[in-house]
Amino acid sequence: MRRSELFTRTSKTVPADEAARNAQLLIQAGYIHKEMAGVYSYLPLGKRVLDNITQIVREEMNAVGSVELQLSVLQPKDIWEKTGRWDDKTVDNWFKTQLKNGTELGISLTNEEPLTNILGNFVSSYKDLPAYIYQIQNKFRNELRAKSGLMRGREFLMKDLYSFCRTQEEHDVFYEKTAEAYMKIYDRLGLGETTYRTYASGGIFSKFSDEFQTLSDVGEDTIYVHEGKRIAVNKEVFTDEILAELGLKKDELVEKQAVEVGNIFSLGTKYADALGVYYDDDQGKQQSIIMGCYGLGISRLMGLLAEHFADDRGIIWPAAVAPFQIYLARLGDSPDVAKAADELYADLTARGATVLYDDRDARPGEKFADADLLGLPWRVVVSEKTQAAGSYELKSRTGQEARQASKQELYKTLDINP
Ligand code: ATP
Ligand code: MG
Repeated sequence: MRRSELFTRTSKTVPADEAARNAQLLIQAGYIHKEMAGVYSYLPLGKRVLDNITQIVREEMNAVGSVELQLSVLQPKDIWEKTGRWDDKTVDNWFKTQLKNGTELGISLTNEEPLTNILGNFVSSYKDLPAYIYQIQNKFRNELRAKSGLMRGREFLMKDLYSFCRTQEEHDVFYEKTAEAYMKIYDRLGLGETTYRTYASGGIFSKFSDEFQTLSDVGEDTIYVHEGKRIAVNKEVFTDEILAELGLKKDELVEKQAVEVGNIFSLGTKYADALGVYYDDDQGKQQSIIMGCYGLGISRLMGLLAEHFADDRGIIWPAAVAPFQIYLARLGDSPDVAKAADELYADLTARGATVLYDDRDARPGEKFADADLLGLPWRVVVSEKTQAAGSYELKSRTGQEARQASKQELYKTLDINP
């Protein structure tokens, strides 16, 4: 993409109405636009980051054998009444709306009921199960406080997966497999080292749920980390009794702040039973379906990455999610330089590299500041100086010094087939 085609601009001014560092940076760099507290639009560069995170999540969810669909955002009230979750007293952060005739509707905040209801149309026999189904959809929650930028939105992107199993054992196997897939996702995002599978409060059907918590000073959750075992316990279940049960010693645990980047839950038979969705076993006997749900906050992760990987000059995206790998800056407007930069841009792009080409008439300092603020992994410069030397100037976002590189060296470092 050429900068001249991009309608967004960077800004030197920190947005006054935004307290969270992630949102400040993302707004200044032109990744997102704040519509209102907790509601953001994703501008072209931000959309590319969100899509890259989404793709990683999608790949790992496909790898555990689940299939993707897309549920509606508008939901009928009656299926939520069957499980007793329609009432605002039970779920206090619903957004609801009405048809012109007064019929009430829910606006998607989670999807156990709608999906179980759909499954009821297709499942009758044990041969129809297990089913592992996920989607990547905007969720709407009327959060009391929305002051953490992308990390707590009123509208946000979530991956939600639901499992439908015949036996507890079948459920447990998939649950573990998915927990491992979650760790793979955080690894690929560069958060593997700082993310802990965390014991949190369960529900009626299991003592614990599993949260995935990434250490961060701005996190809303307090967890107790066991570095050696690489697990953690959420403050909400941090009692002497539970520690004893888990075989953990209090003095081996360190208190930390963390961000919940995922959450998996055993739901038992509650929802399928309430919605009257059963299957017949091989004896023709009606049986209950055991469910699990597996949430992962995609837009929250984008905020966390921007918050986590940054310095005083801007964002430092992990290569796996960066909107482009290379910031190509053309300095000066001599026809020679312009031609060389155009050619490099065309060649890199043709070889599959993703390049944001700064072809604007702007001062070098401005281009360099933008490259740092935007946080792409590499900066490549074409200028009179590099032309004279028959080379290019190359710098990684985190490197101290730029260096001169021949075309061959450049391609080798950027891992591009010459
Ligand atoms: P939290 O404890 O942070 O309020 P939750 O337990 O209600 O979240 P789930 O319903 O399990 O969250 O949603 C799955 C995932 O979606 C969470 O682990 C989190 O990563 C993300 N998420 C939840 N609420 C928000 C939000 N308001 N904004 C952005 N991401 C969110
Ligand atoms: Mg939670």
